[in-house]
Amino acid sequence: MQTYAYTARLTDYDGSQRTRMLPAAEADSVIAAALWDEDKVAPDTDRSGRITITRTITGYRSATDTEPRTLRHTARLEPVCAPGKLTARQHDDLTMVQQREEYGGAVFDGGRVVVGFGELAPAAAARLLDRGWLAAHQDGTVTVSYAGRIAMALREHRTRTGYMGTDVWRVNALGEGGWEMGPGLYLSQCSCGHRDGHRYDWKSMAQRASRAHRLAHLRAVFDLTP
Ligand SMILES: [Zn+2]
Repeated sequence: MQTYAYTARLTDYDGSQRTRMLPAAEADSVIAAALWDEDKVAPDTDRSGRITITRTITGYRSATDTEPRTLRHTARLEPVCAPGKLTARQHDDLTMVQQREEYGGAVFDGGRVVVGFGELAPAAAARLLDRGWLAAHQDGTVTVSYAGRIAMALREHRTRTGYMGTDVWRVNALGEGGWEMGPGLYLSQCSCGHRDGHRYDWKSMAQRASRAHRLAHLRAVFDLTP
């Protein structure tokens, strides 16, 4: 049974649009080729796991063009399975497969995925393949797909906005002091342990810092510099 990692919405240079379903291995080839060609590969900053690939060409379309035109081809990749569904156990399984990749990778063997001396049970392996988080290749090897690596990064970096009250000691007209609630401060925090150290006056600023932190780790999936 064919399973898919992404729904790709393609907009061609002439503006025409079409939709294609991409199996994990094919999506990985498309993304790898785009990175190789230095097309723009941009993961969304939210937790959706979406990726936009943009190829730009500039040139004369015909002999009668008086100036060069810039045209874009975009592919918007939407995960078939939401990355937020990745469980802790599945994250561990993907980590095991990923660690094996530099030693030739995991091998598909009659339903099981053999990872060095370990293995993923058929049901667990089937689920990971079905969700597009593992990619099965022609040569029988199995690797963690880009969709899988993005789901892992999103699980590793669950950001939240912390709040810190700043109580202040105030003295009234009678000379009596008391604690009062002062302006709050917001913090950008992440499940990986990251704290950026800033205390933000505005919640939106802390949220923006969290998005930047998450995006840096999503870009790292594609070896893009922050
Ligand atoms: Zn983090």
